[in-house]
Amino acid sequence: MTPESRDESGDLSPDEAFAILANETRFEIIQTLWELYEPDDPANLVKFSDLYDSDTAVTFSELYDRVGYGDTGNFNYHLEQLTDHFVRRTDAGYELTEAGFEIARAVVAGTVRERPHLDATELDADCPRCDAPVVAHYENHHLIVSCSECRGIWQNATGEAGVLFTFPLPPTGLSGRTPDEAFHATLAFNLNRVQSFISGICPDCSSAVDQSLDICENHDPRDQSGCPDCHRQHLIEVGEVCHQCKSVARGPLSIAILAHPAVAAFYYDHGIEHLFASWETFRHAQSVEEEILETDPLRIRLTVPCENDRLRLTLDETLSVVEAVEETSYVRD
Ligand SMILES: [Zn+2]
Ligand SMILES: [Zn+2]
Ligand SMILES: [Zn+2]
Repeated sequence: MTPESRDESGDLSPDEAFAILANETRFEIIQTLWELYEPDDPANLVKFSDLYDSDTAVTFSELYDRVGYGDTGNFNYHLEQLTDHFVRRTDAGYELTEAGFEIARAVVAGTVRERPHLDATELDADCPRCDAPVVAHYENHHLIVSCSECRGIWQNATGEAGVLFTFPLPPTGLSGRTPDEAFHATLAFNLNRVQSFISGICPDCSSAVDQSLDICENHDPRDQSGCPDCHRQHLIEVGEVCHQCKSVARGPLSIAILAHPAVAAFYYDHGIEHLFASWETFRHAQSVEEEILETDPLRIRLTVPCENDRLRLTLDETLSVVEAVEETSYVRD
């Protein structure tokens, strides 16, 4: 990209962005432009192609009246501070840029009129490890799902408590949903994000992500109290980090591998329509066997069983599948 063609809105440092936004009037301008924006209007969606010629931007006077700011000159100053990065000027007036929408959406997603809460509630879903009902509660913008009987997949340091998963969910995801609906929405929302991470793209800012493997050296997952070394059931955990926006995801490789097309095809051949972003992924992951074949170079064997057949995948250190072998009618060990 040449300097001439570079979007000037990208030239802001985090320091400058925070400084611009640390002002009530500027926030009100962003909020007002967001409230006046009509997502159903096709002219707002297909800007690039000039298919719709109406300019839906808000005029200066309407924006000024809506925000209700006393001094025109001073108002104009605040608007100019936002212009280019958070607000774009058109022939008709002003509209939000993508960065402006991101700010508005972050505020809207994180805040709702009534503070939603969910006390521990038994769900219509069974634990993938022991078939007992699972229990969910909402705390600090996270849905925390545990088993009513066993200690789930991750245990605390003493092994006395555990969870099946803890996933972030904005308050907007909880409001207007039953506990079961919120449970499935949390899984779909987060496992879709995990899929983006696995494909190397940060779901929050689109940057490249760094992947790391955490293999427990002395893995010994006991039935109830978990592995004393890593406090989890699975041998291998995958960490995904975006160093640009500090977004992270972490979870068992036995779950991450279920996003691979070879697994979807294997299940499909057995009459199962496997959707990665669903609770079924947690159930299927419990039957995936993990094995370290070689350490230098690293080769990991993951075995996915289905009926009397199994899919044996060999992964390298980048988690690329280097070999996929389907074995039919194998005899279980
Ligand atoms: Zn259980
Ligand atoms: Zn990011
Ligand atoms: Zn361990």
